[in-house]
Amino acid sequence: KLNENGVNGTAKKAITFSNVNGHSLKPKVNLQEQRRNLPIFDKRNKLIELMKQHSTLIILAETGSGKTTQVPQYINSARLMENGKIAVTQPRRVAAISVAMRVAQEYGNGMSIGDYVGYSVRFEDVTSKKTRIKFLTDGMLLREAITDRLLLDYSVVILDEAHERTIHTDVLFGIVKNAQRVRVERHLPPLKIILMSATMDVDHLSKYFNNCQVVYIEGRTYPVQMFYTVKPHDNYQTACVSTFFKIHREAPPDHDVLIFLTGQEEIESCAHQIRMLSKDPEVEGPPVKVCALYAAQPSMQQMAVFQPAPVGTRKVVISTNIAETSVTISGIKYVIDGGMVKSRTFHPSTGMEILKVQRISQEQAWQRTGRAGRESEGLCYRIYTKSQFELMKKNSIPEIQRANLNSVALQLLALGIHMLHFDFLDKPPNDTIEAAFEQLQLLGAIDDINSKVLTNLGRKMAKFPLDPRFSKILLSAEKFGCLEEALSVVSLLSSESIFLNPPSKREEAQNARQKFHSGYGDHLTLLNAYREFENIGQNNRKVWCHEHFIHMRNILYVREVRSQLQEICKQCDIRGSSCGSQMDQLRKCLLSGLFMNVAELHRDRQYITLDKRQVTQIHPSSNIHGQQPHCVIFTEVVQTTKCYLRGLTTINSDWLNEVAPDYVKNHNIKFQRDSS
Ligand code: ADP
Ligand code: MG
Repeated sequence: KLNENGVNGTAKKAITFSNVNGHSLKPKVNLQEQRRNLPIFDKRNKLIELMKQHSTLIILAETGSGKTTQVPQYINSARLMENGKIAVTQPRRVAAISVAMRVAQEYGNGMSIGDYVGYSVRFEDVTSKKTRIKFLTDGMLLREAITDRLLLDYSVVILDEAHERTIHTDVLFGIVKNAQRVRVERHLPPLKIILMSATMDVDHLSKYFNNCQVVYIEGRTYPVQMFYTVKPHDNYQTACVSTFFKIHREAPPDHDVLIFLTGQEEIESCAHQIRMLSKDPEVEGPPVKVCALYAAQPSMQQMAVFQPAPVGTRKVVISTNIAETSVTISGIKYVIDGGMVKSRTFHPSTGMEILKVQRISQEQAWQRTGRAGRESEGLCYRIYTKSQFELMKKNSIPEIQRANLNSVALQLLALGIHMLHFDFLDKPPNDTIEAAFEQLQLLGAIDDINSKVLTNLGRKMAKFPLDPRFSKILLSAEKFGCLEEALSVVSLLSSESIFLNPPSKREEAQNARQKFHSGYGDHLTLLNAYREFENIGQNNRKVWCHEHFIHMRNILYVREVRSQLQEICKQCDIRGSSCGSQMDQLRKCLLSGLFMNVAELHRDRQYITLDKRQVTQIHPSSNIHGQQPHCVIFTEVVQTTKCYLRGLTTINSDWLNEVAPDYVKNHNIKFQRDSS
């Protein structure tokens, strides 16, 4: 059952991290004591001094030093923010929420979250008039900038996790730099900028911020013994599981394990395997508490990873790259690094954004290894060979250079900035910029691709915290008389999946949801489920969700998202309407935003996208996987061994000309086959 194909100790290499100075942080000390034990604490006065002196400061320190949780509190206690709030950005909503909760807790005085310390993430704002320290995703701060270009609400903006280089953080670099300059010119209260990072080529960043001051805080790291596999393992997931059990047999129970995998499905299936196997009487080792950590998870479940396991139980956390630098989990002694990450890459030549599992960079590998040496000496098992490691890219490519820029281009235009003239730290590729403006023009947000102003429609599109294609769907809904339905579908697509698929009950779940099945595809199937949910009385919801394998928290979140989008629709004067059972209207409406994402059946099971003629297939998870509709719209392309279309609605091919005539004409869009 468990063979030792995981890791071989002969390939081990001991590495040592800097500054080993033997404090071992044992849990169970009180919060204030924990704060004083953090590496950053000794530098507190120096930091405050530097923050007073400099208008821009880069703080560099190892993950777990206390940057995110402590720096905002130091600023607060030093009264560096008399004129406004402190904003602290995080690339991920999970991190924003968990860190805000932690800081509120440290703040004490019976303070609850949303009082003095709050957070704001897409569709969820937990702040109040009293809030002074506000954690928010970088995307949210960018959105706030549209109405408050100089960020006058804030006297300090902390851009955290700067090394992650998300698109939003990269754009914010330019926004805050500009806001700071303009505020000085106009004699407005000054803006202090603090950039925090775990690792980074800071010279580059410092130069960009007019050679600003950099302060380096030495962390406390302990030596980590490292192992590579002797031969490559294509099935890194299985290798992670067997490596875990190799550790599990031998290590004392209070040694926790952190496993890096790529996404929800993989993590849940690995968690399931470990839970099952660890209960097997033939498997040696203490009881196991398995925690998953990924962006799509409900917040409460995420919080579980921070709780220590009961005495005598081993905790294993299976995480995406969130645990690389964004959140710190105590007690980790072992790291198992699957060596992979899921990331989105845009290909301007094909116009497709592909979600793909790929190798991490060396920099990421070092970060993951470091997680084992936070509190004492640790061990790291790399599920790749040394030569595979050497072939990895040194650094990850910033998202802005590999992602689709449609949303950001739209938001910048709403700020009155044309992306071509924006002061980027690293410029995105020209063909990606062109593709973005081309798409915005097709959607009707701008009149031509060199335009610096948004059309009426474009201004409305920018009001929605959505991909412009989804905003377009909502803005077309009045015309097709299906706003209610469009709102539901777009909300469902903006949230995590409402369908639960426990690995052990896959078939049962599918049978229970059979009645929602729509031959028109996934979007309408989701809609059917949501409609039924809305008709169930509040008291019966829980039972209904359970019976139909519906994720209760996710569907309630959809409801919340929906009411917020509905509010924005009202502001945009979109008249309410419902198409009842006239699904053609809704399908056309979906097409009005997704007309670039149409694919046509080519030959047996092969679909060719009309826009760039890519060969694809319907993803096996689609509910119309077994059918072979002539023509479909898709929301996403996923690449594993093949290119798959995910999130489908069938359409009639002659609708394309009706819904997007300019597109068909100007892009020479032709169907190979007749729809009849
Ligand atoms: P950095 O930003 O430098 O990586 P943080 O400020 O996030 O460091 O974390 C400092 C320490 O605070 C962590 O090592 C951890 O012990 C503790 N901590 C942070 N967030 C939480 C949380 N949500 N629950 C429990 N402990 C936490
Ligand atoms: Mg941090």
